[in-house]
Amino acid sequence: MLDYVQWQRAARKARASGQPVPDLPDLAPLSINLDLTTACNYACDHCIDWDILNSKVRHEDQELRDSLARMAERGLRSVILIGGGEPTLYPGFAGIVEFLKGLGLSVAVVSNGSRGDRLLAAAPFFTEGDWIRLSLDSGSNEVFRRMHNPSSKTLTLDEICSWMPKIKAANPKVQLGFSFVITWLGGSRGEVKVIENIHEMVMAAKRASDAQFDYISFKPFLERQQDGAEVMDPAKTEAELQAVIARIQQNLEQARAVVRSDFRVLASTNLRVLMAGTWRDYTKQPKVCHMQMLRQVVTPLGTFNCPAHRGVEKAQLGGKELWQVPAAGQHATARLLADFDASHECRQVTCLYNSTNWWLEELVEANAPLPKDAPAPEQKDWFL
Ligand code: SF4
Repeated sequence: MLDYVQWQRAARKARASGQPVPDLPDLAPLSINLDLTTACNYACDHCIDWDILNSKVRHEDQELRDSLARMAERGLRSVILIGGGEPTLYPGFAGIVEFLKGLGLSVAVVSNGSRGDRLLAAAPFFTEGDWIRLSLDSGSNEVFRRMHNPSSKTLTLDEICSWMPKIKAANPKVQLGFSFVITWLGGSRGEVKVIENIHEMVMAAKRASDAQFDYISFKPFLERQQDGAEVMDPAKTEAELQAVIARIQQNLEQARAVVRSDFRVLASTNLRVLMAGTWRDYTKQPKVCHMQMLRQVVTPLGTFNCPAHRGVEKAQLGGKELWQVPAAGQHATARLLADFDASHECRQVTCLYNSTNWWLEELVEANAPLPKDAPAPEQKDWFL
């Protein structure tokens, strides 16, 4: 990180004096979101990645492994196997988890839960701090099926949850999360009205606790706006929003009362800022998004600078194989750090990294010499 801040200072000085900008140091992002596939076996009415699903474009397995190895040599510490599609549908899903762990990386999976057998096959490879989070968004089988429209005619929430004790038995170190995107009437994806689930928050928390998950995480519904950015558009009127927030607050309190004592009921950062009424503060970004250096998104459709702009042309660093030749990755990162104006492109996004970006911006702009040592002990949580 110090190398990056020093480079930014030198690059700005060079630009101001008309000198050539020095090359970005030989670094890769600290963390990536890796979309293994765009294929999905659900058709969720609240899906944020609807437009890029089932695109038929694929990773070449060896090319992908080479890219990951090159990145790991340059500082990559964690990989989140996530959507765009359903990661467990990638042929050899467990093999990729094993490969990533062999590179010494922290690994997490965000899955729809439909392939509990494949999650179980991958379970032995996880180590302390790794996690699997299932996007389930419901407390009853009926709402689960209506919201997710699984291609299997028989898949239920009961069946998905029945895999959790087996995964825990195979590897108690892996943390299991139940993710719940709260939807309420008024939320829409284009013209499609979403199914409401706000009334099932407590039921879902109880179910997750009983099924040996470690936590449930509640998030508000996000929408993609026309330019592709993922934004929070909570309600059509302020009065509606206040009524929804009051219901969410009450449900969170009730949920905490019905779960195991060692089970956590969490509100995501997005949800906390929505409830605190401060979410618009997180839409004011600095011009340079420094997070592009720290975390990128690798998908079969290409490599992007941020999950909020997955699949968006302006946010594309290069092809899916970008980091197979690290100099190309560094070059593309330097280009987007200069050209992508986050103060404009992310002006509607409730950015979770807003304070990190402003902190790094202040550090770059400050004249004070940078310390050699880290200011605080390492937390060893590499997921971004
Ligand atoms: S400012 Fe935030 S939303 Fe925009 S690209 Fe950076 S991390 Fe993503």
